[in-house]
Amino acid sequence: MIRTLENPSQAAWRKRRVLLLNATYEPLTALSARRAIVLLICDKADAVHHNAEGPVVHSAGASIALPSVIRLRNYVRVPYRARVPMTRAALMHRDRYRCAYCGGKAETIDHVIPRSRGGAHSWENCVASCAPCNHRKADKMLSELGWTLHHPMVAPKGPHWRLLSTTADLDPVWLQYLGEGAA
Ligand SMILES: [Zn+2]
Repeated sequence: MIRTLENPSQAAWRKRRVLLLNATYEPLTALSARRAIVLLICDKADAVHHNAEGPVVHSAGASIALPSVIRLRNYVRVPYRARVPMTRAALMHRDRYRCAYCGGKAETIDHVIPRSRGGAHSWENCVASCAPCNHRKADKMLSELGWTLHHPMVAPKGPHWRLLSTTADLDPVWLQYLGEGAA
């Protein structure tokens, strides 16, 4: 049984995520704190990045300070996925939360070729956009507006994008483990 005696709050402990690295340091996924502790207790993983402010977990007579990043002792083969799934979180990361049209702060996703004109919901046709630009663009083409894009529409590559596409709240501490282009 795992329980916490010393924690900021029960909710914070449940919400906390731990970055799991492969034995090769390739980022794999974000784990719940509970799953991370199980891997540590079973000697399947080691702490890589300690978190001085993390909760201390007491289990089976041992006390473990929950780390921010852990690494598997044995390499696991990950099924290769050629394409990173496009999610809102990942698209915002690719475009760095900047509007592709005006460079302002983006809060929406826009289809460059509008969906009503057959545009795909894909990395190659979606950009981060501020609400006013999105509204003004509506279902027009860029050529009709004379607009150009601030950044290219390409699908990102690399293992860390698997993580970025599935995790909305990244711990800033993780960025140094996510490889080039993640920060
Ligand atoms: Zn804009």
